[in-house]
Amino acid sequence: MKDQTRIVRAGRVPPADSRFVNPPVYHASTVLFETMADVKAVARVRKGDGVTYGVHGTPGTFALEEAVCEIEGGYRTRLCSTGGQAIAAPLLALLSAGDHFLYPDCCYDNLRDVATGMLARFGVEAEPYDPLVGGGIRELMRPNTRVVFVESPGSQTFEVQDIPAIADVAHSAGAWVVMDNTWAGPLYFRPFEHGVDVSIQALTKYVAGHADLVMGAVTATEAAYERIQPAWHELGCSGAPDDAYLALRGLRTMGLRLERHWQSGLALGEWLLGREEVAGVVHPAMPHDPGFALWERDFVGAGGLFGFWLEERWSGRPQVAAFLDGLELFGMGFSWGSYQSMILYANPHRPATTWPRPGQPKGQLIRIYAGLEDVSDLTDDLAQAFERMRSA
Ligand SMILES: *Cc1c(COP(=O)(O)O)cnc(C)c1O
Repeated sequence: MKDQTRIVRAGRVPPADSRFVNPPVYHASTVLFETMADVKAVARVRKGDGVTYGVHGTPGTFALEEAVCEIEGGYRTRLCSTGGQAIAAPLLALLSAGDHFLYPDCCYDNLRDVATGMLARFGVEAEPYDPLVGGGIRELMRPNTRVVFVESPGSQTFEVQDIPAIADVAHSAGAWVVMDNTWAGPLYFRPFEHGVDVSIQALTKYVAGHADLVMGAVTATEAAYERIQPAWHELGCSGAPDDAYLALRGLRTMGLRLERHWQSGLALGEWLLGREEVAGVVHPAMPHDPGFALWERDFVGAGGLFGFWLEERWSGRPQVAAFLDGLELFGMGFSWGSYQSMILYANPHRPATTWPRPGQPKGQLIRIYAGLEDVSDLTDDLAQAFERMRSA
């Protein structure tokens, strides 16, 4: 089956007693068993699959797990209450005191907080690395390196990582490869075909698609799942039934939405490149971008999230504020992936590398997300913002 068919079909095993299109929503804590033998039988199903207790899943949350798993191509998916929890849980599953952990300098801020906070307290040595290191990660591997984390393109700054090269090195050193795959969503990057062992999705973004819920998913290979499932259980992770229902509903239209976000993002990128107020556009799916060759080799598509630099002379705080404040169609806030266009000034922390990189513009970097509005309305909104900026 092709992708567009799979996102319509996946996770649609109907309960025997129902001929409805969608799975039921069970609001559930307690599950009742008829006999002692039924209780004992629970132990025989694949860990995490049985209907045993509300926390462990309901037919509705299993349907979403199954759908995400089939699309990403892993062995098993577990839901978490947020994308942030889906980052922390697998690290707590795979790392122990005394281990060394490598994570890219361009990672989502939550991961940096976990690395420098909880993991450090528990005796894991976490080291940020240059996301563009590729096979050169070999130099950073130590005998006790257990996990190499990848996020591509990077949060805020959109570096594309050579994941197969990094995965080859990590695996030959006996380390797991864990990826935050939220930028591409489950459709546009196939983590398990590129050497990833554990893939994380903030379902909050493209899968939910409507800015109305927070949820995460952890998808793993069979070997990694043996480690992930006990930790998921120990941490008491779970996915809320109503949110799972909405996320599954979002998934059905995600293919169509992503195509539009991708095309509108490219159109906005082209338009921005032509503006004299703009010093550069960072968008892995545009041919001028340094990440384009890797993106074209490894990715199926791009979403609507990318960045651009204002010229340095318009990067003072009053100018940036004049540009951002008063945009009508672009919302300012900490999320993306829904139908509305979004914008935010970027503020990358880069302890292991320099930012901007040599040769990159020095002005203010802006993160922009193309929603589902008509592109000409979006460019009109931006054009007015540039006018306000110029007269600030
Ligand atoms: C939003 C986001 C997350 C976290 O998801 P939440 O549901 O907001 O916790 C993780 N990684 C990336 C790349 C994100 O954009």
